[in-house]
Amino acid sequence: MSFDPITACKQAGFAEAFLLPNVSYEDWTRHRNDGAFHKNADFVRDDPRVAYPWANACLIAIWPYQPFDDDSVIAPYYLASNTSYHIMQSLIREWNAEGIPCERAETPYRTQLLQAGIGCRMDNQLWYYPPYGTYTVLWGVMLAIEEPVFTESHANKMICNHCGACTRICYGALQNGEYDWKKCIRAYLENEPLPDRFLPELNCFSGCQRCQDVCPMNPKERAPVPDAVRAALDPVEILKGNIRPALDLIGNNRKKQLIRQAIVLAANRHRKDALPYLYTIGAQQGELYKTELQYAFHLLQNSESMIE
Ligand code: SF4
Ligand code: SF4
Repeated sequence: MSFDPITACKQAGFAEAFLLPNVSYEDWTRHRNDGAFHKNADFVRDDPRVAYPWANACLIAIWPYQPFDDDSVIAPYYLASNTSYHIMQSLIREWNAEGIPCERAETPYRTQLLQAGIGCRMDNQLWYYPPYGTYTVLWGVMLAIEEPVFTESHANKMICNHCGACTRICYGALQNGEYDWKKCIRAYLENEPLPDRFLPELNCFSGCQRCQDVCPMNPKERAPVPDAVRAALDPVEILKGNIRPALDLIGNNRKKQLIRQAIVLAANRHRKDALPYLYTIGAQQGELYKTELQYAFHLLQNSESMIE
């Protein structure tokens, strides 16, 4: 039987997958050159034909997720991203073992899909695909396969009604359908310090999906936060050093990010029981977490009582 990567993706748990031809994405490159994207975009290959000359197709698979009914724990995108990343990596290993040349694509997935007429771009600059709305994670794989059957291109149907709800709820990154990544809290949730202006705004790990949650076009169903997720993401537990369960959920490379956010969240939640652990972190890694510790000490040492 011939290789069918789309069915393989669906069998592995992805909701949909699309096989696209390799073309260049010049508009995307122009935007990048104009500074429109976060520095992570520097690693993206804008012309798959040049970056992956051995490949003749790009598979893009979507993994939807449901928002949680309690948005003070974590933006569920990150859990879905970690889970689906590992599933996609194991598919790639499996296909390589079967002799199919493939590797994870570092390409502009959303642009590729939009250019192929799949889904649409919303005013909050996210990619929308029914019935999941903007609650999806995308992964791409470059492939060399015999006689690829490409997904049929169709015209984008605009779903956004330009109601402005996402702009009104945002901290300032969205203005009239324009997105400024430098003002979006999600751009600062890697391992670097969070800018001062966002410290009081952080209410969950890895967080902000406010522009998605208010969008009237998005599905309204919410999932309960699993007990294990809630326990793993207790900020004081993380500050105590019980960090492994949280890393298992969101990825091993996010340790500094987790500690930074745990310090800020403990402060924002008035968790005075975090103070002994903050002193220890301050003594051992004070310089690394300077911004967050200063913020937390200021808030917790000056707050009256309150342990949640
Ligand atoms: S909230 Fe309104 S303006 Fe924003 S993306 Fe959704 S429909 Fe469009
Ligand atoms: S994720 Fe938050 S900060 Fe970023 S655009 Fe959406 S509402 Fe604004």
